[in-house]
Amino acid sequence: MASHVVGYPRMGPKRELKFALESMWDGKTQAADLEQVAKDLRASIWKQMSEAGVSMIPSNTFSYYDQVLDTTAMVGAVPSRYEWTGGEIGHDVYFSMARGNKTKPAMEMTKWFDTNYHYIVPELSGETKFVYSSRKAVSEYNEAKALGIDTVPVLVGPVTYLLLSKGDKSAPKGFNTLSLLDAILPVYKEAITELKGAGASWIQLDEPKLVMDLESAQYEAFKKAYAVLSEVSGVKLLVETYFTDLPVEAYKTLCDLPIAGFGVDLVRGSKTLAVIKEHALPTGKTLFAGVVDGRNIWANDLAASVNTVKELQASLGKDNVVVSTSCSLLHSAVDLKNETKLDNELKSWMAFAAQKLVEVVAIANAVSGNKDEEYFAANAAAQASRRNSPRVHNKAVKELAAGLAGSEHRRATPVSTRLEEQQKYLNLPILPTTTIGSFPQTPELRRVRREVKSKKISEEDYDKAIKAEIDSVVKLQEELDIDVLVHGEPERNDMVEYFGEQLDGFCFSANGWVQSYGSRCVKPPIIFGDVSRPKAMTVYWSSYAQSVTKRPMKGMLTGPVTILNWSFVRNDQPRSETCYQISLAIKDEVEDLEKANITVIQIDEAALREGLPLRKSEHADYLRWAVHGFRITTCGVKDTTQIHTHMCYSNFNDIIHSIIDMDADVITIENSRSDEKLLSVFREGVHYGAGIGPGVYDIHSPRIPPTEEMADRARKMLAVLESKVLWINPDCGLKTRKYGEVVPALTNMVNAAKQLRAEL
Ligand code: GLN
Ligand code: ZN
Repeated sequence: MASHVVGYPRMGPKRELKFALESMWDGKTQAADLEQVAKDLRASIWKQMSEAGVSMIPSNTFSYYDQVLDTTAMVGAVPSRYEWTGGEIGHDVYFSMARGNKTKPAMEMTKWFDTNYHYIVPELSGETKFVYSSRKAVSEYNEAKALGIDTVPVLVGPVTYLLLSKGDKSAPKGFNTLSLLDAILPVYKEAITELKGAGASWIQLDEPKLVMDLESAQYEAFKKAYAVLSEVSGVKLLVETYFTDLPVEAYKTLCDLPIAGFGVDLVRGSKTLAVIKEHALPTGKTLFAGVVDGRNIWANDLAASVNTVKELQASLGKDNVVVSTSCSLLHSAVDLKNETKLDNELKSWMAFAAQKLVEVVAIANAVSGNKDEEYFAANAAAQASRRNSPRVHNKAVKELAAGLAGSEHRRATPVSTRLEEQQKYLNLPILPTTTIGSFPQTPELRRVRREVKSKKISEEDYDKAIKAEIDSVVKLQEELDIDVLVHGEPERNDMVEYFGEQLDGFCFSANGWVQSYGSRCVKPPIIFGDVSRPKAMTVYWSSYAQSVTKRPMKGMLTGPVTILNWSFVRNDQPRSETCYQISLAIKDEVEDLEKANITVIQIDEAALREGLPLRKSEHADYLRWAVHGFRITTCGVKDTTQIHTHMCYSNFNDIIHSIIDMDADVITIENSRSDEKLLSVFREGVHYGAGIGPGVYDIHSPRIPPTEEMADRARKMLAVLESKVLWINPDCGLKTRKYGEVVPALTNMVNAAKQLRAEL
């Protein structure tokens, strides 16, 4: 039985690619050095897969930056501002598109479906001329072949590519990128023909757009595209889908396409198996059964997977099923072998990408009668120990979480009344000013945090250093005349990790990096057990900060949904249950802050929107428990305690009612990059009675916005919102900025607020 892997992480087990890229970008090394590192990484990955016994090994899943950008290079869709003059696209043009250059900004980047991976959005117009301009796929194929390894080249499929593209500046409003299908297909045909010529027998085309809610014209595009691509004879086309269930319509479309097989995600897609059994596969087609989770770090339940594959074989025929990963392993960590921080028991419950290769092969072998008894027995033992471990299961937490059902957890008093009560204590001017939480993270601060962890400096010295930083951040805000202060978050490395490290049920890897974009990686905390809070997490620093000022000091927490969405989450219970457990822990923290006389508490839900499921039919359920999870944290506070929340995106027009339902007293949100969007919600008459602070300046840029510009933004808001609800603040935290930028920008921001107050 064949085994197949959809794709593999590129960064390397120790982020070798990251360092090679950054060193070349910094001018410290040459392109040849980078190319050598990349070549070695590719070779070691192919060898690893080949040694593991994977029969269908992917190539061209390596990328210097992003596979969608690689596709843009392949089809020669370089925006004119990069002044590409034709020929094979080299590093210069490629990295200019990815990162911008001295004179031209980079192309836009956005999230790849519901992952934390970001791709470079292609910019197309009716004028775009597609030309085959990057032979990367064939050169990778040849490179593997030279090592004696025959691979399956992987391309982003043409329909998904077009659907992920946007019209460029010259394109008319509402430009339909699918109108370019006829124009782009010849380039794909050329690439496929060349790959076939080089010896490839299978070619994989990733078409994850097929899992989305599509219109009939979009399904038609798939039919047309694959009718054309299948004209290249003598090569088998595999269409991969992943990230959630395939709609029945998509499944039927795939069955009808002139392709040799297609892949489905049986991990995130819980209903697909039934669909497949009900509508048998046409003869001659192979189903790639994605049973090994590419989005997580847990060991596979091998016995269960073997059963699934056998069931599929029973309905589709023995030779028509291939064991595969649910999606590319790009979204998992790289290799458990390098883990020094996790103990052996935790490790026995996990599988990173390298271990998942072995799982795929073991499942295929077991199904075809060559079960590795020892390996299966160890896996079964690990599964059982995880199911029963007291490290995972905490009865008290489970009971508390179960007790949440049936309650709405709403504060008793309506928000307008609460705001009046709060104002009696807070005495804020109209259009109050505040910031989002963090102040610049200096190298000195990073050093202090690092050194206390490694015990190079004492706890007392650390305490002194952090307090000194808080003192100076408070003094600065008082001088700037900001109304509601923050302590600056100097003790935090990361807004999720900081809490995860103090909560039970979390663990941390040393090298569990996952690519986020380009050379950037994140190391998500791992939630392995029931979550609880042994002791207060932020009260010490917040109380200290409040003690050095008479102005209100915001307590600063990360919300349960964001902690959940930015972690590797357990797969042995629904996400909602894990979320509720975190909610209870944060609720206790909120109430401890209140007891310590912190009267304004901000609970960041930066990632609430990110968790929105891909399919519309699943939105309502997610939003219900996510918003409920947030309300659990705040429902127990007094009317006089002001709850803020913060979100770093502005496109929430579609979820505005859920945001209102969170029932925060004040929400601060990103806005400065797209005010029109937000304004339109309120113009349409959505009633928003709580306080709202749409960011008046973009903290992602070093630019210092003038007073008048910020005042203008706020004036536009005042045209649609009552002045008593409007707050004046930046878009997000200031941790990535320098003081030289922050001080003048905040000065201008406060001046803008003062100017507007005088106008009212
Ligand atoms: N309070 C956090 C900060 O200011 C919020 C960060 C975020 O929204 N991503 O850094
Ligand atoms: Zn933010």
